[in-house]
Amino acid sequence: MDRLDTLWKYQELDLAVDQYILDMKNSELRQKLLKLRDYLIKQEETLVKLDDDAEQKNNLLGKVQHEYNEISSTIKSLIEKLQAGEIKALDELEKMTNEGLALKDKIRKKEDELKKLVKELDNFQNKLNDIRQKVAKAKKEYTEVKKVYDEQVSNINEELNSLKEQRDNLAASIDKVLMIKYKNIKASKTPVISQLIDNQCGGCYMSLASLVIQRVKDKKQIVECENCGRILYYKE
Ligand SMILES: [Zn+2]
Repeated sequence: MDRLDTLWKYQELDLAVDQYILDMKNSELRQKLLKLRDYLIKQEETLVKLDDDAEQKNNLLGKVQHEYNEISSTIKSLIEKLQAGEIKALDELEKMTNEGLALKDKIRKKEDELKKLVKELDNFQNKLNDIRQKVAKAKKEYTEVKKVYDEQVSNINEELNSLKEQRDNLAASIDKVLMIKYKNIKASKTPVISQLIDNQCGGCYMSLASLVIQRVKDKKQIVECENCGRILYYKE
């Protein structure tokens, strides 16, 4: 076998290895796992934020509750004063009545505030429960998909490793300088070797000069395509 025939064979194995790796990356299961993972991360963030919000609302609720209690006890003491008959003067009574009315108004507002907060907290709780349920479902699905995916990967890895072994064994019989050239070209384009097809470079389809074609066919030296830099190969 000519050195380029060997390199061609090497490339076939090398491309097959690449394809396996690409297939694994693009596998539906892997995509699904990545999607589920992203979803879970996002939901966790939402949960943390909702927890923070709920805590703030709870603090606010405590504060409003305290305010409500204070107004309530002021009203109570006012009533007690009235009932004890402490208020004799008419203007004092009038003052107290106005005070009472203002307090009544105030406490009604606090009640509304409290109702609104309780409702908001309720909504929060529903939202949290909903997300928690969805997260639990997604986690379960992730675990199930991961199991199937891991099995798939382990099967593919077996085939992949066997291909890699064949490829690397072949590499041992290829000239080191040629191998370095192959790897250098591969860093920027693949496939590295292109076949001569109808007097064109099979990689970039540029028509080649007859002198170049002859040199490729002679197989005495490594000829690179002037246009794309690939190693030209003539398959007999
Ligand atoms: Zn070319």
